[in-house]
Amino acid sequence: MAKLLAYSLVSIVPPPFKTEYIVGIAEDDGVRTPVRIDRSHLKNLKIGMSGTITTRETDQGEIKYFTPEEVKLEGGKVALVTGAARGIGRAIAIELAERGYDIALNDIETSTDGEETIKEIQSLGRRALFAVADVSSYSDVQKMVNMVVEKFGRIDVLVNNAGINIDRLVTNMSPLEWQKVIDVNLTGVFNCTKAVLPHMIAAGGGRIINISSQGALDGPVGQANYAAAKGGVVSFTKVIAREYAQYNILCNAVAPGCIRTRMTDSIPPGQLRERVSKIPLGRRGEPGEVAKLVAFLAEDGTYITGQLILINAGEYI
Ligand code: NAP
Repeated sequence: MAKLLAYSLVSIVPPPFKTEYIVGIAEDDGVRTPVRIDRSHLKNLKIGMSGTITTRETDQGEIKYFTPEEVKLEGGKVALVTGAARGIGRAIAIELAERGYDIALNDIETSTDGEETIKEIQSLGRRALFAVADVSSYSDVQKMVNMVVEKFGRIDVLVNNAGINIDRLVTNMSPLEWQKVIDVNLTGVFNCTKAVLPHMIAAGGGRIINISSQGALDGPVGQANYAAAKGGVVSFTKVIAREYAQYNILCNAVAPGCIRTRMTDSIPPGQLRERVSKIPLGRRGEPGEVAKLVAFLAEDGTYITGQLILINAGEYI
């Protein structure tokens, strides 16, 4: 087993990208070796800690890496899921809990649905916290994120899921109805991302998954506010991916098609039947199916960032 003698975070700024990585010296059997260390270990590094030295083939040739012995975290990894009392957010929270995450469950207010979701997560042996906040209010979001970090110590995954729709033709849409949907669906994503990023940077990395919509792509009649917000989420996702890759923060967006939740239950039955008849798989998607995709994007070791991933059974190709 090797010992870490020294380490330092090195920043290099070759335009247009900035990169940061950790270099160190590790000693094994009296032999000192210059090593690199994955940035995700930054928060847990300590001089004198044990670990293993391995050799990796990289584009820059063979590089020695030091991997610290597994550091026991208090509790598991932590995911903050917004709008998670019901629907797709609830399914994402439960899927992540099943995969070992402690969950900070955000919604705009406490509710029986939210309490039931909390109980279900706890019955899986994970910690769960109701984090009430209106995502469209930055001060609310900042308080919520501080509370989650205080209680759970970290946020490894942020899922920006909270969303609303107020559907009208533009001629009938009031400026207030336009603004409300932009505030929750787009500004809410900015608010939560901005509040969480400093914690992810300090911890050496993270995953941000934004729930966009097929509506960002196919120009849905009556949803100008919703489509514009969800399209904005896609553009925002790409910028975050570029700006924070240097900190090992990966950011992707998911665009669901027609998923069986309250949002699509409210479509008049005739219209819903017609829509479903155009879906090649012939049915609405289940929230759990979206949750599995989100959980995959939350995993370590994916080579995916800045992408929009469609989940729609071929309704939009
Ligand atoms: P849903 O069942 O209506 O759930 C949305 C959740 O977000 C609700 O719990 C809601 O709380 C919460 N919420 C609303 N405004 C909020 C705010 N300001 N702050 C915090 N939480 C808030 O909808 P869903 O179908 O699961 O949708 C989840 C996400 O997927 C949304 O972003 C939606 O646009 C997107 N999406 C859905 C579909 C679909 O077919 N269902 C398709 C594409 C994209 P309240 O109930 O208390 O209002």
